[in-house]
Amino acid sequence: MSDELKQGVCGVLEYLSAMGIDYLPVSQSSIKAVSGKQTAAAGKPALKPATPPARIPVPAATAYNPDKEAALKAVRADIGDCQRCALSCERKNIVFGEGNPDARIMFIGEAPGREEDMQARPFVGEAGQQLTGLIEKLGFRREDVYIANICKCRPPENRNPEEAETFACFPFLNEQIRIISPGVIVALGKIATYSLMKPALPITKFSILRERGKWFGYNGVPVMPTTHPAYWLRNRSDKHQVLKEAQEAAAKLRASKGER
Ligand code: URA
Repeated sequence: MSDELKQGVCGVLEYLSAMGIDYLPVSQSSIKAVSGKQTAAAGKPALKPATPPARIPVPAATAYNPDKEAALKAVRADIGDCQRCALSCERKNIVFGEGNPDARIMFIGEAPGREEDMQARPFVGEAGQQLTGLIEKLGFRREDVYIANICKCRPPENRNPEEAETFACFPFLNEQIRIISPGVIVALGKIATYSLMKPALPITKFSILRERGKWFGYNGVPVMPTTHPAYWLRNRSDKHQVLKEAQEAAAKLRASKGER
C-alpha cells in the first residue's frame, strides 16, 4: 500500500475514532494490505486489525487542561504545518478559527477563501462581512462568538472541499467544539451541515435548502443549519430566512440560560 493511500486510510480511521468508533470489522486481506503482515486467523473475519495501522498525528488529549485557550492552542500546535491532505499544497496559511474560547455560540463554515488564506483568519472576506453583520444583528460582537471551518486550508479556486479533505480535518474541529463546548452551533451551508450531521446519504443527494432550519445534534450540542454567507451575497432575499434561523439559535441559547 502506498504511503499516500495509507495516510488516507489512517485519516478515515482517525475520523471514525474521533466519532467514538473503536472497532471495525475488517477482512484479513485489508489487514495484510495495511500492515504488510498475515494474521494468525487467516481466512476468518477479524474484529480488529492485529497490527494497529500507522498513525498520523491527531489532536493531543486536552481533557485535563482547564484553560480553554491553552487547550485550543494545543490543538493548533497539533495541526502544525499540516500535510494531511492535498489542500496543504496550495494554501498560504492554515486558518484555525478565532473568537472567544468560552463562546456559547459557534459558527461553522466550509473552508477559507482567498482573503482568509492570506490573513489566516476565518470569514474576513466579502462573505465574512455578511456573517459579521448577522452576528451583530443577533446582539453579539464578533469577538463574543467562535468562528471556525470544516477545513482549515483553502481549496484551490475555492472549489468545494472533497470528502477526504473534510475527513482529514474534522478531528480538529471536533476538538474545538469539545473544548469550547458551545450551547449552540450555527452550521453555514451544505458542507458544514453535511459534515456535522453525517446523514446516511451521499453529499450529492444532500440539499441544504431542504435541511435548513431543522435542528439536529452534534455530540449533544444543538445545531441549526442555514445557508452559507456566499449564498446570501448571490440571493439577497435569503437573508430574511437566515436571520430567522439564526435568531432561533440565539433564542434557544437564551432559553437554556446558556448565554454568558
Ligand atoms: N467561506 C467559508 O466557508 N469560510 C471562510 O472562512 C470564508 C469563506
